Amino acid sequence: MKVEPGTRVSLASIAADDTGGLTREDAERRFKALAKELGELGRLLWADGSRKLLMVLQAMDTGGKDGTIRKVFRRTNPQGVKIANFKVPTSEELAHDYLWRIHEHTPGSGEIGVFNRSHYEDVLVVRVLGLVPEERWSRRYDHINAFERLLADEGTIIRKFYLHIDKDEQKRRLQARLDDPTKNWKFNAGDLDHRKLWDDYMAAYQDVLEKTSTDQAPWHIIPANHKWYRNLLVAEVLVEALRDAGLSYPEPEEDLDGIVIE
Ligand code: AMP
Ligand code: MG
Repeated sequence: MKVEPGTRVSLASIAADDTGGLTREDAERRFKALAKELGELGRLLWADGSRKLLMVLQAMDTGGKDGTIRKVFRRTNPQGVKIANFKVPTSEELAHDYLWRIHEHTPGSGEIGVFNRSHYEDVLVVRVLGLVPEERWSRRYDHINAFERLLADEGTIIRKFYLHIDKDEQKRRLQARLDDPTKNWKFNAGDLDHRKLWDDYMAAYQDVLEKTSTDQAPWHIIPANHKWYRNLLVAEVLVEALRDAGLSYPEPEEDLDGIVIE
C-alpha cells in the first residue's frame, strides 16, 4: 500500500498477515515472472545509463529485509545492484552529520542501490533510544525530504519500503532463531530490548511514513508476515517504477548493417 503524501497512517489498523486474497501458489507464480522482468529492466536501466534506482528497506528486527533482497533480485545481474547495510555508526561517522555516511552509497547512473536500513534509523532507533535530543531528531524529517529531493532531481528513482510484521510474527521468528541451530547465529539478545519498545517504534515509524512520503520518494507499507506476499508486492512496485521510467536502449554509434565480422 502506497502512503499518499500528507495522509495519516495507522499501523495498528493495517493487517501484517494480509495476503490480498491470493493463494501462495498464485503469488509465487506472479512473483517469478516479475523477478525475471526486474532483471530485464535492470539491464535496460544500465544500458540506458541516464537514471538510477534507490530502494530503501526498513523494518523491525526479523522483518525480512535480507530475505527480500535475496529473493527480489534473484534474477537481476549482481553487478548492477549495490547493497549498503547501515549499522550502528562508527565514531568517525558520528563525528559528522548523519547523512554524511549515506550519500556515498547512493546509486550511480544505471545502478540499483539498495539501502538495508538507512538514514531513517536517525529518526527511528535514534529517537526511540533517545540517542540525540528531540530538538535535533525532530528537524531531520525536513533534511531527509530535502536530501531525497536532491537525489530525485538528479535522476534517482526512489522507492521506500516498510516491511510490516506484527509482534506475534516477530516472536515466532525470534523463537525460530533460538530453536534452529542453523539460525542461532542470527539471534541477538539486543533485539529483545528493541522488542520491549515495540509501541515506541510503531509511533516513530508512523511519523516517518506520514512526514516523508513524497511524490518523488513514496513509502510503501508492505504486509510482511507472509514472505511470499511481501516478495510479490515489493517486486511489483520496483517493476512498475522502472517500466514507467522511460528507459530505452541507446542507438548504436554507427550504422551496423554493412558491418561484416571477418
Ligand atoms: P542489523 O541490521 O541486525 O545488522 O543491526 C544493525 C543495528 O544497527 C540495528 O540495531 C540498528 O538499529 C542499528 N543502527 C543502524 N543505524 C543506526 C543509527 N544511525 N544509529 C544507531 N543505531 C543504528
Ligand atoms: Mg538484527
